[in-house]
Parts: sequence; structure tokens; C-alpha cells
Amino acid sequence: MISDPAAELRSRGLQVTAQRLAVLRTISANPHVTAEAVTSEVRAEIGSVSVQAVYDALATMVEVGLVRRIQPAGSAARFEDRVADNHHHLVCRDCGCVVDVDCSVGAAPCLTASDDHGFDIDEAEVAFWGRCPRCQSATDPQSASQGADDPLTESTPHHKENKNE
Ligand SMILES: [Zn+2]
Ligand SMILES: [Zn+2]
Ligand SMILES: [Zn+2]
Repeated sequence: MISDPAAELRSRGLQVTAQRLAVLRTISANPHVTAEAVTSEVRAEIGSVSVQAVYDALATMVEVGLVRRIQPAGSAARFEDRVADNHHHLVCRDCGCVVDVDCSVGAAPCLTASDDHGFDIDEAEVAFWGRCPRCQSATDPQSASQGADDPLTESTPHHKENKNE
């Protein structure tokens, strides 16, 4: 959590504006929030703000390293203020919720590639895909035992191929 958003902005050489403050506060309070959700939160807080202004603020803060942007395959980009620790994410295939998971204990072992091909590696994008506990219990055969051949109208393919890669 960011305790003093204004100081964080200044420390990165960014001008402190009401929009940037609101964007940063929203991200801090809602880790892995989408730009769309940031926009509606910011509007609730400081009134009318253009979508473009919010996207600009997000892009600027990502650029200076104040905010991290992640984009799970098939999902909208998400933003968080937990930066520079190379943590990874658990993503639910069904509801799309995102949860932080620390890298293996120690100094980001996943950054040690078996062959770095001369790259100066600073991040490993690791996403763990599965189904969150809530989605598991929602389709738990024991809790949904009535109507055994109830067609699962809402079921989505569990294996989405990463077709945009
Ligand atoms: Zn889920
Ligand atoms: Zn995270
Ligand atoms: Zn790791």
C-alpha cells in the first residue's frame, strides 16, 4: 500500500495532480484493478475525468515504475502498486480474479534463465492459471447434486489457448 501518494509522485519526478492522486489511491486500494474500473472510481472521487486522462496517468505511472501493469492472456490490462519485487499471479480461468503469489523464497530464482542469450533480465512473467476456490465450490458436484444432468449453461472452456501470442 502506498501511504503518501503525493510523495510517491514527487519522488518519481511527476507533478502532483488531483487525477494522478485519485488514480494512484484507487490502484493502491484495489490491486489488479482494470483501467475501466479505475476510471469509474476516479470519477466517483473527483468528478468528470476523461478516459484518455486516466489512461495517460496510468501510462505515465507505469513508465516511471510507480505502478505495474499486468495483462493475463484474454484479460484486460490490470494495474497494481506492488512493484519491483517480481511477484507472480494466480489467475482464475472462470471469474478472472487475480491473486498475488510470491516468487520462490530468495532472490527471484525464476529470473535465472538457463540461457539468458546475453539479455539483462529484470522480470519473469509467470502466471499460474486455474480455478479459484469460489469458482470451484460454485460447480462442486456435491453442492450441485440436484438435477444431475443440468446443462452447465455458464460453463466456459477451461483451457483457453493463448491465441494472442
Ligand atoms: Zn474464480
Ligand atoms: Zn500483483
Ligand atoms: Zn519467480
